[in-house]
Amino acid sequence: SERVVIVGAGLAGVHTASHLREAGWQGEIDLLGAEPHRPYDRPPLSKELLTGEAPDAWLETDLDALGARLRTGVTATGLDPAARRLATDAGPLSYDHLVLATGAAPRTLPGAAGLDGVHLLRTLDDALALRAVLKPGARLVIVGAGWIGAEVTTAARAAGCAVVVIEAAGAPLHGVLPAEAAEPMRRWYEEAGARLLTGTAVTEVRPDGVLLADGGHEPADAVLVAVGSRPDTAWLSGSGLPLDQGGAVLADHRLRAAAPDVYAVGDCASFPSARYGRRLLIQHWDNALRGPAAVAAGVTGGTPAPYDPVPYFWSRQFGRMVQSVGLHSPGDRLLRRGSPDGGDGWTLCWTSASGALTAVLTVDRPRDLAQGRRLVERGAVVDPGRVEDPAVPLKSA
Ligand code: FAD
Repeated sequence: SERVVIVGAGLAGVHTASHLREAGWQGEIDLLGAEPHRPYDRPPLSKELLTGEAPDAWLETDLDALGARLRTGVTATGLDPAARRLATDAGPLSYDHLVLATGAAPRTLPGAAGLDGVHLLRTLDDALALRAVLKPGARLVIVGAGWIGAEVTTAARAAGCAVVVIEAAGAPLHGVLPAEAAEPMRRWYEEAGARLLTGTAVTEVRPDGVLLADGGHEPADAVLVAVGSRPDTAWLSGSGLPLDQGGAVLADHRLRAAAPDVYAVGDCASFPSARYGRRLLIQHWDNALRGPAAVAAGVTGGTPAPYDPVPYFWSRQFGRMVQSVGLHSPGDRLLRRGSPDGGDGWTLCWTSASGALTAVLTVDRPRDLAQGRRLVERGAVVDPGRVEDPAVPLKSA
């Protein structure tokens, strides 16, 4: 019978298997995972799993019941799209349809590779290794004040570590939020008892700490490098499959890669968005959850609507729930809803030149997020005065 091979047994890979069956696929499904573990969810790795609040993070999908063959500890090493053959470290494998779902790999820093005491955080094994060093009094340096840096700071302070976070940009969440919008988050580090150094670049990681661009040295018992990730696609370099400069597989509006019957989904793929008029690489959980339906429809011969989601993600940090929906552009107007100084949460909204709501970021205001999400998806125009009144629900003008 015909065979779909899915490379990568993370969220996108596992959901592709289940959507294939839902869409009526009756052929074989082979799911290859480089890691030795059965599939698990990543968000808990920097949160509940790190603090010990959650014992594990296994995904609940029953692959046996789906008739999908999971092969853990098998890494794809090359692709010959003309022959429809995959090279793996367990021998070659031929396919009729191929789904690339290899996710992303964390970036690192000079000197960091292979050093004892230097951690990255992407996999379950990474999380267990980091958890083991979060002991009372341990000195932890975190490089990067992004989402993962903030979440691990939270967990490490709860464990009683002395935490220093070093960020090259002038504010936390550089590239995600304008510096003025991220300013209140600086306080979260202080209140948690962590030291946050911004505008400070780390030039080298050493066994006993990190070297700073200004010549300084920050001592550490353990260092976490949390400076972003890139699509895990180096193994495709000889395949002729086009990747963009950042390494993402260039997929089309139905998540088809540029070879017959090859798809790409989740953190490893970029796709053209008509909504945003440009290519998007979304490395968030919701995208890995939703993309697989489009892939399954394509494999089974359906003609799905173009895949064009409004990006959504959440982060739990410093006892707060931060959620974000949409994308704002540099020219968008920033509206503030509620104040970071009150105890009731606050929201940032962005509107386009035509007054349409383009993005919403909420801190402990889940209702704003839910209402804002619908408005952003519809491109609804909002009344700035009403948006800035936190007592009035978000709605279209
Ligand atoms: P992955 O989950 O990375 O799965 C890809 C799998 O493919 C991996 O298991 C990998 O080992 C395997 N693989 C790679 N190369 C090969 C190969 N050549 N052969 C075989 N297998 C291979 N998003 C949110 O929205 N909210 C959050 O709070 C949040 N928290 C996060 C916390 C952490 C610590 C991390 C790392 C990510 C977090 N994310 C969060 C992002 C979210 O987890 C990812 O967007 C999502 O996991 C992407 O799913 P994926 O299936 O595309 O990739």
